[in-house]
Amino acid sequence: MNEQGDDPYALDTLACRAGSVRTVEQEHSEALFLTSSFCFDSAAQAAERFAGREPGNVYSRFTNPTVRMFEQRLAALEGGERCIATASGMSAILALGLSLLAAGDHVVCSRDVFGATVNLFKNLLGRFGVRTTFVPLTDTRAWAAAIEPATRLLFLESPSNPLTEVADIAALADLAHAHDCLLAVDNCFCTPALQRPLKLGADLIVHSATKYLDGHGRCVGGAIVGPEALLGEKIHNYMRTAGPALSPFNAWVFLKGLETLSLRMGRHSATAARIATFLEQQPRVRRVFHTSLNSHPQHALALRQQRDHGGIVAFEVQGERAAAWRIVDRVRLFSITANLGDAKSTITHPATTTHARITAEERAAMGIGEGLLRLSVGLEDPDDLIADLDRALGAG
Ligand SMILES: *Cc1c(COP(=O)(O)O)cnc(C)c1O
Repeated sequence: MNEQGDDPYALDTLACRAGSVRTVEQEHSEALFLTSSFCFDSAAQAAERFAGREPGNVYSRFTNPTVRMFEQRLAALEGGERCIATASGMSAILALGLSLLAAGDHVVCSRDVFGATVNLFKNLLGRFGVRTTFVPLTDTRAWAAAIEPATRLLFLESPSNPLTEVADIAALADLAHAHDCLLAVDNCFCTPALQRPLKLGADLIVHSATKYLDGHGRCVGGAIVGPEALLGEKIHNYMRTAGPALSPFNAWVFLKGLETLSLRMGRHSATAARIATFLEQQPRVRRVFHTSLNSHPQHALALRQQRDHGGIVAFEVQGERAAAWRIVDRVRLFSITANLGDAKSTITHPATTTHARITAEERAAMGIGEGLLRLSVGLEDPDDLIADLDRALGAG
């Protein structure tokens, strides 16, 4: 089930079965190997394993069978040669930076990426001599203008958080390759159930498995997917040396999450589209952001590039912060939490939570106003969710 190129099975089959390896016990559900180290038959075998001349398990910082099953399943879903799991989504992005870049290198990154990602490139990698230029996600000309001789990596998220802007991934992949750069895509919002960036020409994918891959808000984890040539040497060696390994327990939870991934993404998308349409009709709502809407500037591009529109909806209410906070305080079903990709719906006020660490000017440039709210639409009954929003938006 791990063949590359033309996948032998469709996505839903791979999501249930790819990467699964049975032990002699013939268990049907994947085994959870809660062990830090592994035993060798002889001193000679230990030497071979440590040197990497004989394949097999050594130590769970870089070899664990449960983690490997998760990696192989996610690689199959993304259509990548190799996957390396990490302790979190952020440690996946850090692994990418520290294993593929060096002092003097330059990165072009979309402005609208996850807040911690901005910090990671600007402040953390910045201290080690890697410079990053941030550009508007949808402005392909700005990407081209930002590329310098020292540029090695283009990094983006699509759709963006929270305004669901969509990048033309194929066009940016062409641009990257014309300048000998790599294109990495954070595929957290769509997951491979809705979007396969490697097929569009991207070189690398990063994931926060914490979100939809888990799907139930249980565990923190991440992953990098891409070619063996990049992951097999540099990123594997980084993981072995730096050690941000995924816990086998979390890998086991994610394996179970992947089995229902496309069912869940379909339902998240369908309910989110209904909610977006409902919100667009509300007099107190100024603007709604979801790629399912005809009013979305990249609606056509999303239809070409994605299988569906995903579960994140943002909307702007009249009356700025007070009005937005009032809705947050009045909903009963939506949880007030910044997590997303959960079966339970959540509501967030980005300007004072997820995007509070950046300046007001930067927020304004990104289009994140005080009246903006973000929903991560869960798997509850759509009518119950709409009734909850209707009441919260109401006059009373
Ligand atoms: C949450 C998130 C991350 C960071 O992932 P963690 O697992 O929380 O470290 C990165 N990118 C996106 C798009 C996210 O939503």
